[in-house]
Amino acid sequence: MKKFLIAGNWKMNKISSETVEFAEGLKAKGLSNAGDVCVLAPFTDIRDLGKALEGSGIGFGAQNVHFEPSGAYTGEISVPMLEDLGVGYCIVGHSERREYFAETDETVNKKLKVLLAAGITPILCVGESLEVREGGGEQTFVAGQVVADFAGIPAEDAARVVVAYEPIWAIGTGKTATPDQAEEMCAFIRGVISGIYDNPTGDAMLILYGGSMKPSNAAELLAKPDINGGLIGGASLKVDDFAAIAEAAAALS
Ligand code: PEP
Repeated sequence: MKKFLIAGNWKMNKISSETVEFAEGLKAKGLSNAGDVCVLAPFTDIRDLGKALEGSGIGFGAQNVHFEPSGAYTGEISVPMLEDLGVGYCIVGHSERREYFAETDETVNKKLKVLLAAGITPILCVGESLEVREGGGEQTFVAGQVVADFAGIPAEDAARVVVAYEPIWAIGTGKTATPDQAEEMCAFIRGVISGIYDNPTGDAMLILYGGSMKPSNAAELLAKPDINGGLIGGASLKVDDFAAIAEAAAALS
């Protein structure tokens, strides 16, 4: 049976009261796959989100972390701080952080290692720009990211990473990759992982698609054999839309 993870990336949205309202609304939906759903919130919302979701089975986490445990890094948040909040997940290497905040494969790699050491599940984002895709170099580009991001991570740890394929041209644009385009790249990433490690590691890895996933296109994307769920931005801000996507996954599992 295929495993799924439906992860909501709120980005820089929602204040505390909105967070609690969302969590209560999501719990009220009585999701049939609550254990395969998580919400990645701004740092300022995480404590309230965790409290509000307590006992629901729905996971929660952060959108970024620093790789050092403490020190003179003004404005940053460490793994011990996330552990203290009880997070289960953390996004690493989102294209918005790579583009606007100088995230590199080197810092992504360091972040993956410290999250894995702490038992927090990293959701690693990879994906190409429109320019790269139009030039036909998307597989080379994404393979390069995957190889660099997993450098020095042993197989038993790698298996705990969730990879999200997020073509930059599909994020927040309303332009979704076709199910075939998304499947092709997710299958390719699985092959790259199998090549670095072995087939069982590649086969077991959760590989998500992200980029304008919404209730109207989720079922078709999630039905593809190599797509184990979604990283959802815009559509994760509304309880009804996010729950509908989670239910689409539940219907397929
Ligand atoms: C994202 O931010 O990870 C994302 C996929 O956003 P959206 O669903 O809005 O395209």
